[in-house]
Amino acid sequence: MKTIRDFNIQDKKVLIRCDFNVPMQDGKIIDDTRIKGAMETIQYAISHQAKVILLSHLGKVKEESDKEGKTLAPVAKRLEQLLQQKVIFVDACVGKKVEDAVNQLKAKEILLLENTRFEDLDGKKESGNDPSLAQFWASLGDVFINDAFGTMHRAHASNVGISKLLPSGIGFLVEKEIERLHTVFCPKKPFIVILGGAKVKDKIGVIEKFAPKCDRILIGGGMAFPFLEAEGYFMGSSMKEEDSLDFCKKMLKKYKDKIILPVDLAVSKEWKDGSPAYKDITKLEIDDMGLDIGPQTIQIFKNQLQDAKTVLWNGPMGAYELSSYQKGTQELLTYLASKKEQIRTIIGGGDTVACAMKNHLEKELYHLSTGGGATLNYLESETLVGLKAVEQSNANH
Ligand code: ADP
Ligand code: MG
Repeated sequence: MKTIRDFNIQDKKVLIRCDFNVPMQDGKIIDDTRIKGAMETIQYAISHQAKVILLSHLGKVKEESDKEGKTLAPVAKRLEQLLQQKVIFVDACVGKKVEDAVNQLKAKEILLLENTRFEDLDGKKESGNDPSLAQFWASLGDVFINDAFGTMHRAHASNVGISKLLPSGIGFLVEKEIERLHTVFCPKKPFIVILGGAKVKDKIGVIEKFAPKCDRILIGGGMAFPFLEAEGYFMGSSMKEEDSLDFCKKMLKKYKDKIILPVDLAVSKEWKDGSPAYKDITKLEIDDMGLDIGPQTIQIFKNQLQDAKTVLWNGPMGAYELSSYQKGTQELLTYLASKKEQIRTIIGGGDTVACAMKNHLEKELYHLSTGGGATLNYLESETLVGLKAVEQSNANH
């Protein structure tokens, strides 16, 4: 797979697809992690005298009124601060204005185009990978670099579409993601998978893929309830997922010795902060809602992780947004961080990563994957449509 290093980009127009899909409130960026994540590739391109053209989407644009608040103008400002240089912003992503701005661009200058999804208003051209839209964007550059890992599982005009038409490579962010995530395809053993979060249904692909390969699966969070119900326990008013019961039964039968479920839970009568009551899984009452794994379970899970060499973790152990119920997730994260030298911990999933960042553990864990849906997709299939398009382009150019 070619990376930006493989191209001579001096004085060339380099189109870089970034992921600037940042959370915004009242026109302000509330978390710039993704912008910072794009820095390395952009800085490399500037230091190699390229003419840099940046493309990204921001949110969903379904109707004209969605445009308000979805402009990338604030991202241009933030980029200027981070890069300490002017970032030219055009308030369009197609048309003459864009062509003129590109034609005037000099080496080491940066141009950011408006949100690519503004083109979704006219018949979903961006999201539907419209060939003429891809053709327009490709006509602006000499080389295409895809560094937007978070959208690599989708075939859009601004990623797959352009890759088909221009010599393409990946950027440093994508390179690091695939290199680190790859660890779990040939893991050092013992290899332990930790699963949690809201729904079994979202994670079926990951369970089916890794259950045969891993040594143990520790299950917590809302995901544990259908498994515990499948074992015959009464889960009170905990989150329900009846249509996953059969799948859980099947998995429990097939991987009986690998799957480890909670033995106690932090319960509450309602979804709010307070002092949790800890209950054995056999003791839940009708109005008890399980919101975290209990202390005995935390200990059991830590014991199971003691000799691990590789850990893949997706989904928090509880309703971590409520500070009284983040203990399970927090304690396991801290435990894994304390064993950084021994364990390669790969964390996927927006919420699990958010919890690690909230606890300032991003540097203490081997890899926090920023991809959300793309990460899950990559873990399941070991490739992504965006990566395939880059590979195809390498074969063609
Ligand atoms: P990720 O984004 O890491 O893949 P998910 O989106 O699958 O994780 O799940 C995260 C959500 O799961 C959080 O909003 C959290 O509140 C919820 N959750 C975890 N445990 C429970 C629980 N016991 N009861 C209700 N919700 C839970
Ligand atoms: Mg989530």
